[in-house]
Amino acid sequence: MIKANNPDLTSWITVPQNSDFPIQNLPFGIAENAVGKKFVATRVGDTVINLSVLFQHGYLNDLGFNLSQFDTYRLNPMMKSGKLAIRSLRDRLSHLFSTNTSELQSNTPHTQEASHALSDVTMCMPIEIGDYTDFYSSKEHATNVGTMFRDPNNALLPNWLWIPVGYHGRASSVILSGQDIHRPKGQIKPDPSADPIFSASRQVDFELEMAFVTFEGKALGDSINTTEAEDFIFGLCLFNDWSARDIQSWEYVPLGPFLAKNFASSLSAWIVTLDALQPYAVSTPEQKPAVLSYLEFEGEKSYDINLEVALQPNKADETVICRSNFKYMYWNMAQQLAHHTVNGCNIRCGDLMGSGTISGPTEDSYGSMLELAWKGTKPLKLSKGEERKFIQDNDTVIMRGHCMRNDIRIGFGEVKAKLLPSK
Ligand code: CA
Repeated sequence: MIKANNPDLTSWITVPQNSDFPIQNLPFGIAENAVGKKFVATRVGDTVINLSVLFQHGYLNDLGFNLSQFDTYRLNPMMKSGKLAIRSLRDRLSHLFSTNTSELQSNTPHTQEASHALSDVTMCMPIEIGDYTDFYSSKEHATNVGTMFRDPNNALLPNWLWIPVGYHGRASSVILSGQDIHRPKGQIKPDPSADPIFSASRQVDFELEMAFVTFEGKALGDSINTTEAEDFIFGLCLFNDWSARDIQSWEYVPLGPFLAKNFASSLSAWIVTLDALQPYAVSTPEQKPAVLSYLEFEGEKSYDINLEVALQPNKADETVICRSNFKYMYWNMAQQLAHHTVNGCNIRCGDLMGSGTISGPTEDSYGSMLELAWKGTKPLKLSKGEERKFIQDNDTVIMRGHCMRNDIRIGFGEVKAKLLPSK
Protein backbone atom coordinates (compact mmCIF):
# COMPACT_ATOMS: atom_id res chain seq x y z
CA MET A 1 0.00 0.00 0.00
CA ILE A 2 1.10 3.55 -0.66
CA LYS A 3 2.12 4.86 2.78
CA ALA A 4 0.34 8.20 2.49
CA ASN A 5 -2.98 6.38 1.96
CA ASN A 6 -2.93 4.68 5.39
CA PRO A 7 -6.48 5.21 6.73
CA ASP A 8 -5.21 5.23 10.33
CA LEU A 9 -3.18 8.42 9.85
CA THR A 10 -4.28 11.64 11.53
CA SER A 11 -2.74 15.10 11.24
CA TRP A 12 -1.75 17.73 13.77
CA ILE A 13 -3.23 20.21 11.26
CA THR A 14 -6.94 20.74 11.92
CA VAL A 15 -9.25 18.93 9.48
CA PRO A 16 -12.91 20.03 9.69
CA GLN A 17 -15.56 17.32 9.62
CA ASN A 18 -16.55 16.30 6.08
CA SER A 19 -13.49 18.03 4.65
CA ASP A 20 -12.40 16.82 1.20
CA PHE A 21 -8.80 17.19 2.34
CA PRO A 22 -7.75 14.84 5.17
CA ILE A 23 -4.07 13.91 5.49
CA GLN A 24 -4.74 10.96 3.11
CA ASN A 25 -5.47 13.34 0.21
CA LEU A 26 -2.47 15.71 -0.14
CA PRO A 27 -3.39 17.18 -3.53
CA PHE A 28 -1.19 19.65 -5.38
CA GLY A 29 -2.00 23.17 -6.53
CA ILE A 30 -0.55 26.64 -7.08
CA ALA A 31 -1.35 29.31 -4.50
CA GLU A 32 -0.52 33.02 -4.38
CA ASN A 33 0.05 34.73 -1.04
CA ALA A 34 -0.93 38.27 0.02
CA VAL A 35 2.21 39.83 -1.49
CA GLY A 36 1.69 38.18 -4.90
CA LYS A 37 4.19 35.34 -4.54
CA LYS A 38 3.13 32.06 -6.18
CA PHE A 39 4.28 28.67 -4.95
CA VAL A 40 3.59 24.93 -5.20
CA ALA A 41 1.20 24.00 -2.42
CA THR A 42 -0.60 21.13 -0.82
CA ARG A 43 -3.57 21.28 1.48
CA VAL A 44 -4.71 19.66 4.74
CA GLY A 45 -8.18 20.71 5.92
CA ASP A 46 -8.37 24.44 5.22
CA THR A 47 -4.63 24.97 5.62
CA VAL A 48 -2.51 25.58 2.51
CA ILE A 49 1.14 24.54 2.89
CA ASN A 50 3.95 26.11 0.90
CA LEU A 51 6.28 23.37 -0.38
CA SER A 52 8.89 25.89 -1.42
CA VAL A 53 9.30 26.96 2.23
CA LEU A 54 9.44 23.33 3.38
CA PHE A 55 12.13 22.64 0.79
CA GLN A 56 14.21 25.66 1.83
CA HIS A 57 14.21 24.47 5.44
CA GLY A 58 15.38 21.01 4.45
CA TYR A 59 12.19 19.00 4.99
CA LEU A 60 12.00 17.73 1.42
CA ASN A 61 15.66 16.75 0.98
CA ASP A 62 16.84 13.51 -0.64
CA LEU A 63 13.81 13.12 -2.89
CA GLY A 64 15.59 14.31 -6.05
CA PHE A 65 13.82 17.68 -6.29
CA ASN A 66 15.35 21.16 -6.39
CA LEU A 67 13.97 24.49 -5.17
CA SER A 68 12.99 25.73 -8.64
CA GLN A 69 10.41 22.93 -8.88
CA PHE A 70 8.48 24.35 -5.89
CA ASP A 71 9.32 28.06 -6.07
CA THR A 72 7.32 28.52 -9.26
CA TYR A 73 3.89 29.30 -10.72
CA ARG A 74 3.02 25.94 -12.32
CA LEU A 75 3.13 22.27 -11.27
CA ASN A 76 4.83 21.14 -14.51
CA PRO A 77 8.46 21.45 -13.27
CA MET A 78 7.65 19.28 -10.24
CA MET A 79 5.71 16.80 -12.40
CA LYS A 80 8.74 16.40 -14.69
CA SER A 81 10.28 14.27 -11.91
CA GLY A 82 7.66 11.60 -12.61
CA LYS A 83 5.37 9.22 -10.79
CA LEU A 84 7.79 7.63 -8.30
CA ALA A 85 9.28 10.97 -7.22
CA ILE A 86 5.81 12.44 -6.65
CA ARG A 87 4.83 9.32 -4.70
CA SER A 88 7.83 9.71 -2.35
CA LEU A 89 7.09 13.44 -2.02
CA ARG A 90 3.52 12.67 -0.98
CA ASP A 91 4.79 10.03 1.48
CA ARG A 92 7.22 12.60 2.96
CA LEU A 93 4.47 15.22 3.32
CA SER A 94 2.27 12.61 4.99
CA HIS A 95 5.09 11.89 7.46
CA LEU A 96 5.65 15.60 8.21
CA PHE A 97 1.95 16.33 8.82
CA SER A 98 1.25 13.17 10.85
CA THR A 99 0.27 13.48 14.49
CA ASN A 100 2.93 10.86 15.26
CA THR A 101 5.93 12.92 14.09
CA SER A 102 7.37 16.05 15.66
CA GLU A 103 10.06 17.43 13.34
CA LEU A 104 7.79 19.95 11.61
CA GLN A 105 4.97 19.94 14.18
CA SER A 106 7.33 21.11 16.96
CA ASN A 107 9.01 23.87 14.91
CA THR A 108 6.55 26.75 15.28
CA PRO A 109 8.51 29.32 13.21
CA HIS A 110 8.68 26.88 10.29
CA THR A 111 5.02 25.82 10.49
CA GLN A 112 3.95 29.45 10.65
CA GLU A 113 6.11 30.41 7.68
CA ALA A 114 4.87 27.48 5.57
CA SER A 115 1.15 27.56 6.45
CA HIS A 116 -1.61 29.83 5.20
CA ALA A 117 -5.31 29.84 5.94
CA LEU A 118 -7.12 28.97 2.70
CA SER A 119 -8.88 32.34 2.86
CA ASP A 120 -5.51 34.16 2.87
CA VAL A 121 -4.34 32.81 -0.49
CA THR A 122 -5.60 33.00 -4.07
CA MET A 123 -5.61 29.74 -5.98
CA CYS A 124 -4.05 29.90 -9.47
CA MET A 125 -4.15 27.81 -12.65
CA PRO A 126 -2.11 24.77 -11.54
CA ILE A 127 -0.93 23.41 -14.89
CA GLU A 128 0.65 24.82 -18.02
CA ILE A 129 -1.61 22.81 -20.32
CA GLY A 130 0.10 21.85 -23.57
CA ASP A 131 -2.68 19.98 -25.28
CA TYR A 132 -6.25 19.32 -24.27
CA THR A 133 -8.10 16.23 -25.50
CA ASP A 134 -11.73 15.50 -24.73
CA PHE A 135 -13.17 11.98 -24.82
CA TYR A 136 -16.79 10.87 -25.14
CA SER A 137 -16.64 7.84 -22.90
CA SER A 138 -20.00 7.59 -21.12
CA LYS A 139 -22.27 5.14 -22.91
CA GLU A 140 -25.35 6.67 -21.27
CA HIS A 141 -24.37 10.18 -22.44
CA ALA A 142 -23.54 9.08 -25.99
CA THR A 143 -26.82 7.13 -26.16
CA ASN A 144 -28.85 10.09 -24.90
CA VAL A 145 -27.23 12.55 -27.32
CA GLY A 146 -27.58 10.11 -30.22
CA THR A 147 -31.24 9.58 -29.36
CA MET A 148 -31.96 13.32 -29.32
CA PHE A 149 -29.84 14.45 -32.27
CA ARG A 150 -30.09 11.46 -34.63
CA ASP A 151 -32.04 8.24 -34.24
CA PRO A 152 -33.33 6.53 -31.05
CA ASN A 153 -33.04 3.14 -32.78
CA ASN A 154 -29.39 3.64 -33.69
CA ALA A 155 -28.34 6.03 -30.93
CA LEU A 156 -24.73 4.82 -30.71
CA LEU A 157 -22.73 5.17 -33.89
CA PRO A 158 -21.19 1.83 -35.01
CA ASN A 159 -17.66 2.83 -33.93
CA TRP A 160 -18.58 3.87 -30.39
CA LEU A 161 -18.28 0.41 -28.78
CA TRP A 162 -14.92 -0.19 -30.48
CA ILE A 163 -13.12 3.15 -30.09
CA PRO A 164 -12.75 5.45 -27.06
CA VAL A 165 -14.00 8.33 -29.20
CA GLY A 166 -12.32 11.70 -28.62
CA TYR A 167 -11.30 14.95 -30.28
CA HIS A 168 -8.57 17.53 -29.85
CA GLY A 169 -9.82 20.50 -27.85
CA ARG A 170 -8.24 23.87 -27.19
CA ALA A 171 -5.91 24.58 -24.23
CA SER A 172 -5.97 28.39 -24.41
CA SER A 173 -9.52 28.66 -23.08
CA VAL A 174 -9.17 26.23 -20.17
CA ILE A 175 -9.74 28.46 -17.14
CA LEU A 176 -9.60 28.12 -13.38
CA SER A 177 -12.64 27.67 -11.16
CA GLY A 178 -14.01 31.06 -10.09
CA GLN A 179 -13.37 32.80 -13.41
CA ASP A 180 -16.68 33.83 -14.94
CA ILE A 181 -17.43 33.49 -18.64
CA HIS A 182 -19.57 35.31 -21.18
CA ARG A 183 -22.33 33.74 -23.22
CA PRO A 184 -20.73 32.84 -26.57
CA LYS A 185 -21.94 34.07 -29.95
CA GLY A 186 -21.91 32.26 -33.27
CA GLN A 187 -23.94 30.72 -36.07
CA ILE A 188 -27.13 29.00 -35.03
CA LYS A 189 -30.06 27.64 -37.03
CA PRO A 190 -33.19 27.89 -34.88
CA ASP A 191 -35.49 27.41 -37.87
CA PRO A 192 -34.46 24.19 -39.67
CA SER A 193 -36.10 25.37 -42.89
CA ALA A 194 -34.40 28.80 -42.93
CA ASP A 195 -30.80 30.03 -43.28
CA PRO A 196 -28.55 30.18 -40.21
CA ILE A 197 -28.33 33.41 -38.22
CA PHE A 198 -25.60 35.06 -36.16
CA SER A 199 -26.66 35.30 -32.53
CA ALA A 200 -25.73 34.80 -28.91
CA SER A 201 -26.15 31.12 -28.12
CA ARG A 202 -29.58 30.30 -26.71
CA GLN A 203 -28.56 26.85 -25.48
CA VAL A 204 -25.52 27.23 -23.23
CA ASP A 205 -24.90 24.03 -21.28
CA PHE A 206 -22.41 22.52 -18.85
CA GLU A 207 -20.82 19.09 -19.16
CA LEU A 208 -20.02 17.25 -15.94
CA GLU A 209 -16.57 15.81 -16.53
CA MET A 210 -13.38 14.90 -14.78
CA ALA A 211 -10.02 15.45 -16.40
CA PHE A 212 -6.65 13.78 -15.87
CA VAL A 213 -3.27 15.42 -16.18
CA THR A 214 -0.33 13.51 -17.68
CA PHE A 215 3.31 13.14 -16.81
CA GLU A 216 5.87 13.30 -19.63
CA GLY A 217 5.01 10.53 -22.13
CA LYS A 218 7.12 8.66 -24.62
CA ALA A 219 8.84 9.76 -27.83
CA LEU A 220 6.81 10.42 -30.97
CA GLY A 221 6.15 7.05 -32.62
CA ASP A 222 6.00 5.06 -29.36
CA SER A 223 2.80 3.95 -27.62
CA ILE A 224 1.67 3.65 -24.00
CA ASN A 225 -0.12 0.37 -23.25
CA THR A 226 -2.97 -0.14 -20.78
CA THR A 227 -0.69 -1.89 -18.25
CA GLU A 228 1.67 1.07 -17.93
CA ALA A 229 -0.88 3.84 -18.58
CA GLU A 230 -1.37 4.78 -14.92
CA ASP A 231 2.37 5.46 -14.57
CA PHE A 232 1.78 8.39 -16.94
CA ILE A 233 -1.17 9.89 -15.04
CA PHE A 234 -0.36 12.51 -12.39
CA GLY A 235 -3.87 13.15 -11.06
CA LEU A 236 -7.44 14.25 -11.63
CA CYS A 237 -9.59 17.32 -11.19
CA LEU A 238 -13.18 18.38 -11.77
CA PHE A 239 -13.89 19.74 -15.20
CA ASN A 240 -16.85 21.67 -16.64
CA ASP A 241 -16.63 21.50 -20.42
CA TRP A 242 -18.97 24.37 -21.29
CA SER A 243 -20.93 23.77 -24.49
CA ALA A 244 -23.27 25.75 -26.76
CA ARG A 245 -25.73 23.18 -28.07
CA ASP A 246 -27.26 25.31 -30.84
CA ILE A 247 -23.83 26.19 -32.25
CA GLN A 248 -22.84 22.53 -31.87
CA SER A 249 -25.78 21.03 -33.72
CA TRP A 250 -25.22 23.29 -36.75
CA GLU A 251 -21.43 23.00 -36.98
CA TYR A 252 -20.48 19.48 -35.85
CA VAL A 253 -20.88 17.65 -39.16
CA PRO A 254 -18.43 16.81 -40.75
CA LEU A 255 -15.44 17.47 -38.46
CA GLY A 256 -16.90 17.53 -34.96
CA PRO A 257 -17.11 20.24 -32.27
CA PHE A 258 -15.35 23.57 -32.85
CA LEU A 259 -16.73 26.91 -31.60
CA ALA A 260 -19.47 25.16 -29.58
CA LYS A 261 -16.83 23.87 -27.19
CA ASN A 262 -13.72 26.04 -27.29
CA PHE A 263 -15.02 29.23 -25.65
CA ALA A 264 -14.33 27.98 -22.10
CA SER A 265 -13.68 24.87 -20.00
CA SER A 266 -13.39 25.27 -16.22
CA LEU A 267 -10.92 23.35 -14.05
CA SER A 268 -10.87 22.84 -10.26
CA ALA A 269 -7.80 24.20 -8.45
CA TRP A 270 -6.45 21.09 -6.69
CA ILE A 271 -5.07 18.10 -8.59
CA VAL A 272 -5.77 14.93 -6.59
CA THR A 273 -3.09 12.36 -7.39
CA LEU A 274 -4.03 9.02 -8.93
CA ASP A 275 -2.11 7.49 -5.98
CA ALA A 276 -4.54 9.07 -3.49
CA LEU A 277 -7.46 7.53 -5.40
CA GLN A 278 -6.14 3.94 -5.32
CA PRO A 279 -8.24 2.88 -2.28
CA TYR A 280 -11.35 3.81 -4.30
CA ALA A 281 -10.53 1.79 -7.44
CA VAL A 282 -13.47 -0.16 -8.87
CA SER A 283 -14.22 -2.22 -11.98
CA THR A 284 -15.44 -0.59 -15.16
CA PRO A 285 -18.73 -1.71 -16.77
CA GLU A 286 -18.56 -4.89 -18.83
CA GLN A 287 -17.50 -4.17 -22.41
CA LYS A 288 -19.34 -5.91 -25.25
CA PRO A 289 -18.25 -6.58 -27.93
CA ALA A 290 -14.83 -7.59 -26.60
CA VAL A 291 -12.35 -4.80 -27.28
CA LEU A 292 -9.38 -5.12 -29.62
CA SER A 293 -6.25 -6.47 -27.93
CA TYR A 294 -4.50 -3.10 -27.50
CA LEU A 295 -7.49 -1.93 -25.41
CA GLU A 296 -7.62 -5.02 -23.16
CA PHE A 297 -6.70 -4.39 -19.54
CA GLU A 298 -6.49 -6.13 -16.19
CA GLY A 299 -7.67 -5.07 -12.76
CA GLU A 300 -9.82 -2.26 -11.44
CA LYS A 301 -9.25 0.77 -13.63
CA SER A 302 -12.07 3.06 -12.63
CA TYR A 303 -12.73 5.02 -9.45
CA ASP A 304 -15.78 5.40 -7.23
CA ILE A 305 -16.07 9.20 -7.25
CA ASN A 306 -19.44 10.71 -6.28
CA LEU A 307 -20.20 13.74 -8.42
CA GLU A 308 -22.85 16.41 -8.23
CA VAL A 309 -23.83 19.53 -10.14
CA ALA A 310 -25.58 22.49 -8.52
CA LEU A 311 -27.18 25.42 -10.31
CA GLN A 312 -27.39 28.76 -8.52
CA PRO A 313 -29.47 31.56 -10.08
CA ASN A 314 -28.32 35.12 -9.41
CA LYS A 315 -28.57 35.97 -5.69
CA ALA A 316 -30.56 32.77 -4.95
CA ASP A 317 -29.92 29.43 -3.29
CA GLU A 318 -28.36 26.63 -5.26
CA THR A 319 -30.26 23.49 -6.29
CA VAL A 320 -28.46 20.20 -6.86
CA ILE A 321 -29.66 19.12 -10.31
CA CYS A 322 -27.48 16.06 -10.97
CA ARG A 323 -25.85 13.27 -8.96
CA SER A 324 -23.56 11.00 -10.95
CA ASN A 325 -20.40 8.91 -10.47
CA PHE A 326 -17.11 8.60 -12.33
CA LYS A 327 -17.44 4.79 -12.20
CA TYR A 328 -20.20 4.86 -14.83
CA MET A 329 -17.65 5.61 -17.56
CA TYR A 330 -17.57 2.81 -20.17
CA TRP A 331 -14.00 3.51 -21.31
CA ASN A 332 -11.39 3.93 -18.57
CA MET A 333 -8.38 6.25 -18.48
CA ALA A 334 -5.89 3.47 -19.25
CA GLN A 335 -7.83 2.65 -22.42
CA GLN A 336 -8.12 6.33 -23.34
CA LEU A 337 -4.37 6.83 -23.03
CA ALA A 338 -3.57 3.58 -24.85
CA HIS A 339 -5.90 4.56 -27.69
CA HIS A 340 -4.56 8.14 -27.81
CA THR A 341 -0.98 6.92 -28.29
CA VAL A 342 -1.51 3.70 -30.27
CA ASN A 343 -0.76 5.50 -33.53
CA GLY A 344 2.45 6.95 -32.09
CA CYS A 345 0.97 10.29 -31.01
CA ASN A 346 3.12 11.62 -28.13
CA ILE A 347 1.75 13.11 -24.95
CA ARG A 348 3.64 15.65 -22.86
CA CYS A 349 3.91 16.68 -19.22
CA GLY A 350 0.83 18.73 -18.46
CA ASP A 351 -1.53 17.48 -21.13
CA LEU A 352 -5.17 17.50 -20.08
CA MET A 353 -7.59 14.68 -20.95
CA GLY A 354 -11.30 15.24 -20.35
CA SER A 355 -13.43 12.17 -19.65
CA GLY A 356 -16.43 13.34 -21.60
CA THR A 357 -19.78 14.04 -19.95
CA ILE A 358 -20.36 11.59 -17.09
CA SER A 359 -24.00 10.51 -17.25
CA GLY A 360 -25.37 7.68 -15.15
CA PRO A 361 -28.28 5.33 -15.82
CA THR A 362 -31.04 7.37 -14.13
CA GLU A 363 -32.60 10.66 -15.26
CA ASP A 364 -31.22 12.56 -12.25
CA SER A 365 -27.68 11.35 -13.01
CA TYR A 366 -27.40 12.90 -16.47
CA GLY A 367 -24.34 15.15 -16.71
CA SER A 368 -25.68 17.98 -18.90
CA MET A 369 -28.72 20.25 -19.16
CA LEU A 370 -29.31 18.87 -22.66
CA GLU A 371 -30.06 15.48 -21.10
CA LEU A 372 -31.55 16.60 -17.76
CA ALA A 373 -34.15 18.78 -19.51
CA TRP A 374 -34.22 16.45 -22.56
CA LYS A 375 -33.50 19.08 -25.23
CA GLY A 376 -35.81 21.56 -23.50
CA THR A 377 -38.87 19.30 -23.44
CA LYS A 378 -38.73 18.62 -19.66
CA PRO A 379 -37.67 21.85 -17.96
CA LEU A 380 -35.89 21.42 -14.62
CA LYS A 381 -37.50 22.85 -11.50
CA LEU A 382 -35.19 24.78 -9.15
CA SER A 383 -35.76 25.20 -5.40
CA LYS A 384 -37.73 28.46 -5.74
CA GLY A 385 -39.98 27.04 -8.48
CA GLU A 386 -38.00 28.60 -11.32
CA GLU A 387 -37.50 26.53 -14.45
CA ARG A 388 -34.48 25.93 -16.63
CA LYS A 389 -34.03 24.36 -20.06
CA PHE A 390 -30.46 25.60 -20.45
CA ILE A 391 -28.18 27.95 -18.47
CA GLN A 392 -29.46 31.52 -18.13
CA ASP A 393 -27.39 34.69 -17.79
CA ASN A 394 -25.96 35.13 -14.26
CA ASP A 395 -26.52 31.47 -13.34
CA THR A 396 -23.59 29.88 -11.52
CA VAL A 397 -22.76 26.23 -12.16
CA ILE A 398 -20.94 24.39 -9.35
CA MET A 399 -19.56 20.86 -9.56
CA ARG A 400 -18.28 18.86 -6.61
CA GLY A 401 -16.79 15.39 -6.20
CA HIS A 402 -15.52 13.08 -3.51
CA CYS A 403 -14.72 9.44 -2.71
CA MET A 404 -15.77 7.81 0.57
CA ARG A 405 -14.63 4.52 2.08
CA ASN A 406 -13.92 3.46 5.66
CA ASP A 407 -14.78 6.95 6.89
CA ILE A 408 -11.97 8.47 4.80
CA ARG A 409 -13.25 11.12 2.40
CA ILE A 410 -10.97 12.15 -0.48
CA GLY A 411 -12.45 15.04 -2.42
CA PHE A 412 -11.74 17.54 -5.15
CA GLY A 413 -13.33 20.69 -3.71
CA GLU A 414 -15.36 22.35 -6.43
CA VAL A 415 -15.28 23.90 -9.87
CA LYS A 416 -17.49 26.92 -10.21
CA ALA A 417 -18.22 29.60 -12.81
CA LYS A 418 -20.95 32.11 -13.57
CA LEU A 419 -22.36 32.65 -17.06
CA LEU A 420 -22.41 36.40 -17.75
CA PRO A 421 -24.43 37.98 -20.63
CA SER A 422 -22.78 37.95 -24.05
CA LYS A 423 -20.33 40.77 -24.81
CA1 CA B 1 -17.03 17.44 -23.47
